[in-house]
Amino acid sequence: MTCVQCPVLSRCRTQIVYPRAGTNGLLVLEEAPGAEEDRTGENFAGCSGQKLRDLLAEQGICWAETGRASIVRCRPPWDRPPSGEEVQACLLLLEEFLRAAPPRVILTVGCLAARIFWGSPRLLVNLERMRRTAPRYRDVERAHVHLRGLLAKTPCAILPLPDTRPTAWNRMAPNGQRWSEIGQEQVALAARLLREPGDCS
Ligand code: SF4
Repeated sequence: MTCVQCPVLSRCRTQIVYPRAGTNGLLVLEEAPGAEEDRTGENFAGCSGQKLRDLLAEQGICWAETGRASIVRCRPPWDRPPSGEEVQACLLLLEEFLRAAPPRVILTVGCLAARIFWGSPRLLVNLERMRRTAPRYRDVERAHVHLRGLLAKTPCAILPLPDTRPTAWNRMAPNGQRWSEIGQEQVALAARLLREPGDCS
């Protein structure tokens, strides 16, 4: 399939970065391909992906068994954030992918991915909402309209994870914790949920 729904992205990309279903029940979801992803055709191929792979390995989660995807599949020029129209167009493809290969746990990496599932543009708000209500709960009404029907029916935990790029990872979050600490806690929680038997609903 050669998708050209987003005129700018389809002109600028080297290739579409297709999602890959995992076998361990985990899906890691990033905002958009960057330079390495665009070059290799693999999500999380760059240095922020390396940090994520290390974190997962510390928790005994095998990268080769982990599903990967992005909110938009084509690299935006100059790594700008994808526009609302581009997100809208590509979310339909993500929805199809999630329906075909439903994960048990989704780690959403960065602000945009968390906002799509949890509603707030501020990552810490989404994290605190998740912590207040239990990781398996999602406020489906706040999720992006394309995903509401899917989330209402899919037994899956959504865990926001801070951006793993070194510049963002080592900064302090507004609650006084380091983003890296919060990130490690979220990955540990994902590992615990994956170890639990049955679904995550
Ligand atoms: S970002 Fe998604 S919808 Fe837009 S052109 Fe690429 S594959 Fe198609």
